[in-house]
Amino acid sequence: MRKTSMLLTAALALMLAAGCGSADRSASGSAAQENVAKPAPDSAAATDNRDQATKQSASTGAGGAGGGAIGDSGTKSTTQAPTEKPDPSNKADKAAEPKKNLYRMNKNYRFEPLAPGVADKVVLLTFDDGPKEKERLTNMLDTLDKHKAKAVFFVNGYRVMQNPDLLKLIAERGQTIGNHSWDHINLKNESKAKVRKQIGDVQTLVEELTGKKPRMFRAPFGSGGDVVKAAAADERLLYMTWSNGSLDWDKSAKNKPDAVIASVMKQLHPGANILMHELPWTADALDRLLTKLEAKGYGFIDPETIELPGTASAAAAQTKASGTDTKH
Ligand SMILES: [Zn+2]
Repeated sequence: MRKTSMLLTAALALMLAAGCGSADRSASGSAAQENVAKPAPDSAAATDNRDQATKQSASTGAGGAGGGAIGDSGTKSTTQAPTEKPDPSNKADKAAEPKKNLYRMNKNYRFEPLAPGVADKVVLLTFDDGPKEKERLTNMLDTLDKHKAKAVFFVNGYRVMQNPDLLKLIAERGQTIGNHSWDHINLKNESKAKVRKQIGDVQTLVEELTGKKPRMFRAPFGSGGDVVKAAAADERLLYMTWSNGSLDWDKSAKNKPDAVIASVMKQLHPGANILMHELPWTADALDRLLTKLEAKGYGFIDPETIELPGTASAAAAQTKASGTDTKH
């Protein structure tokens, strides 16, 4: 009996391998095989991040540019042989039902309720420049869970290549993944083709690993322009910078969780778009920061409830759906 079923299984596997290799791989959920060859990160650019962040900060003031250059040192990833891409439609089937839109981002990158009765004392938590390190990331995810909070993790492609399992962990833990470009360079100075590649390659890689393309984009250093915005729009990405810089990336906050908390609380406003990074002192600050925000009456926006570009039909459908809920 057992032998028969094993034979059947083997035969099935052979059929799948022969006829539909990518589907087979996708079904097996093998992480290693889903890697694709990507350009090595530009370590020179990564080294320059701190300088650029400082310049940006000087030119844009308090709301200024974060960079997360601290501790960043892009290392060359080894070249990998290209492999077949898994069929994304298989994974898309597993995607949860879209949540109802509750918030819209305004031109100042702040969030406003879409309907009366939706809380306006809310913040969006975001963490840029990862995924970097398992223990720290897990700690942050645990803290978010403790507070029933959702966040956006704006990832860099070269980091994802280094830590594909950590990207999957973020998705598996129910958090949202955003696109923060491949190399974390200042895109404002780059050609249209390079900007598109910096954004597009992250879309492809994240979809290959999680089955879902990011729908939000944050330009490194908050430095964009018409070319960057157009490239993001073409990828159906919601382009944003932030409205509350935690300054956790600044050297004044290094190893000082209290400084991160103080900075966020000082800049707090309803609908705040809070920029933070996957940094040790931010992870250390997180539990107390979320407790303080809650004590002030603030809730945490679920990024999946933010209105996205190109969802007019979805919005209309939701309006219709909510209309049927209304008492006539
Ligand atoms: Zn960044």
